[in-house]
Amino acid sequence: MEKCIFCKIIKGEIPSYKVAETNEAYAFLDIGPLSPGHTLVLPKKHIKNIFEADPKDLYPVLDLVQKIAAKMKEKLPCDGVNILINNGEAAGQSVHHCHWHIIPRFAGDGYKFPPAGSLSKEQAEEILGKLK
Ligand code: AMP
Repeated sequence: MEKCIFCKIIKGEIPSYKVAETNEAYAFLDIGPLSPGHTLVLPKKHIKNIFEADPKDLYPVLDLVQKIAAKMKEKLPCDGVNILINNGEAAGQSVHHCHWHIIPRFAGDGYKFPPAGSLSKEQAEEILGKLK
């Protein structure tokens, strides 16, 4: 994809702090880290998001995600990691080349997700009626 910034990074046309590379996947440090070591892992093939992905193209990327997470825990070291993909602008995706964020977490780092909501029986049944 000609204009995709992450495709350009993979091809070396834009510099990156490369963490790891395989035949199918590429990992580099996020330029706007949420914590020290925040890494992005992506398929080399241009895939917009999870909705458009063939699962077979994602397996090797997940393999690298798991290896890097394990390395972070041992070598940074960190106490845990958050792993997430933003899919679609409504979910916060700003670069439209599917990528996993691996965000190292440190005991007491204070980062908190928004407080949890609640789930009524009616809501659960309505949602299950749509999703199951
Ligand atoms: P998302 O909002 O899930 O699409 O995430 C895009 C991420 O890419 C953000 O966390 C940015 O900080 C990161 N980013 C954008 N451009 C670059 C770049 N040139 N090098 C490294 N990370 C980048």
